[in-house]
Amino acid sequence: MSYKDLLLSFKRKSLTNQLVIIFAVIMLVPLLALMYDIFFASQTDRVIFLDKEQRLTALVKSTNLELSIKLDSLGIEPEHISSTLLHNEFTQVVEPYIPSNSGIRFGLYVPLTDKITVLGFLHNYRNLSPEEETLREREIFDNTKSGLVAAEMGNEPLFRISGSLDDQVVEYISPVVVKGKVVAVMWAGERLNPFFYQSSFYRKLLRYFTLGVLALVMIATLRTIKNITSGVDRLKQGLHRMENDIHHLLPEMSGELGQVARAVNRMAVSLTQKEKLEDQLRQSEHLIALGRLVTGVAHELRNPIGIIKTLVELMKQEYSQMTGIEEFTRAIDEQVERQDMVIQELLDFGRPTKVAIKECSINDLIMGVLSFSAAMLRKQKVKVQLQLDNKLPKILADTEKLKQVFVNIIVNAAEAMPAGGLLEITTSQTDEMIIINMSDTGEGISEEEMLKIFDPFYTTKEAGTGLGLSISYQSIKLHGGMIEVDSVPNKGAAFIIKLPIIS
Ligand code: ADP
Repeated sequence: MSYKDLLLSFKRKSLTNQLVIIFAVIMLVPLLALMYDIFFASQTDRVIFLDKEQRLTALVKSTNLELSIKLDSLGIEPEHISSTLLHNEFTQVVEPYIPSNSGIRFGLYVPLTDKITVLGFLHNYRNLSPEEETLREREIFDNTKSGLVAAEMGNEPLFRISGSLDDQVVEYISPVVVKGKVVAVMWAGERLNPFFYQSSFYRKLLRYFTLGVLALVMIATLRTIKNITSGVDRLKQGLHRMENDIHHLLPEMSGELGQVARAVNRMAVSLTQKEKLEDQLRQSEHLIALGRLVTGVAHELRNPIGIIKTLVELMKQEYSQMTGIEEFTRAIDEQVERQDMVIQELLDFGRPTKVAIKECSINDLIMGVLSFSAAMLRKQKVKVQLQLDNKLPKILADTEKLKQVFVNIIVNAAEAMPAGGLLEITTSQTDEMIIINMSDTGEGISEEEMLKIFDPFYTTKEAGTGLGLSISYQSIKLHGGMIEVDSVPNKGAAFIIKLPIIS
């Protein structure tokens, strides 16, 4: 498998697997280093000991041999060799070795008398007080005693480390045998440099510490991998949901993934806004075409209605004597009046009347509209709650048209709450817009209906014309603003009007 194939197969793996592989490769380096260190550190320790062991063994062996030959040549039975003789002979054999073996201490132990002879000195690596020195010596002898006894009983040489007061002494102990009998035990000892012990102690400590840190790093990295991959999974699921429905935004996340999620959410929101704007544009085009049609129809209707009006007037004069005629003419009048009103609304819709722009305060306009609709709202048991921003700037607008928009929305709200409810009106501002929010607690509007309510003639009411909102829509457009609706069926509807601040 070539390097490229390897890279390709790595790239094809899931993010979790990729991270685990990277992690394993990274961890391999310190693990190998640690293993190397453990292996070689123990090797170094062994080499140091081996060196000392060989030196001491060689010394003890040669002095022991010399002593044994000397004792043998005396021709005395082992049980008759006195302790003094042994010590004298030992001193004679060992003394020449002392000058060339500084730092090594030779000793002889005679089990029969429990007497010890010591020649030579151990290295002194630190200054001790005389009391400490005696204490240390005693401890070393105490410790050595067990080794001496062991060597005597076992009749076998022994290499070992004994210690006291932070000192470590290596010893080679060997039995002195005459005619197959152990007559004494001799040994040579050497003190290890405390630095060596300390550094070996710290090396050990460092190794455990590194091992601990590695374990911690491993746990932390695995946790991070888990966090990252679970974040990526959440992102993946969120994107999948978003694919089906763009309104499903990605969940809030921390870190870089959070930044990605927020950027995607912003894109989704601006995409929906764009779609909304496109919808509004389509609606405007639709309205313009309808407007033309409607004006034509209204004109056609106005003439015959005018004739009917005149004829009724004539009937009233001509047949004033006839009983019951008044009832008929009044009914005709009422219907003619109603038709006239509808025709006027149609004309308003199709051919907007002249615009009369003046400086006005939106809050004042709302208060004005509320004052003359107060009676109607009271009758409908509608409570009004106002939250008007008194810092709103004055704007240039057609006050009559805006009033009509507010009236339309307020009347619709009241009609949507036949058993009464709450109408909340708030005004606020951004840098460029004044925002008017009118929300009610009425029956609400379904999503499907929301697409149609600004269409002319769309109504769900028996006596409705379906023109109120489409005229309002046009009026707000005329001001360079926009009108939006938001609703939860059976909970209420909110109409949001945004008007540009043009002072
Ligand atoms: P009309 O009031 O004559 O029906 P509109 O254009 O004013 O005409 O309203 C169109 C339709 O929008 C209404 O028939 C109604 O179904 C719906 N609508 C408007 N405002 C609300 C509201 N606040 N709550 C519920 N539905 C509403």
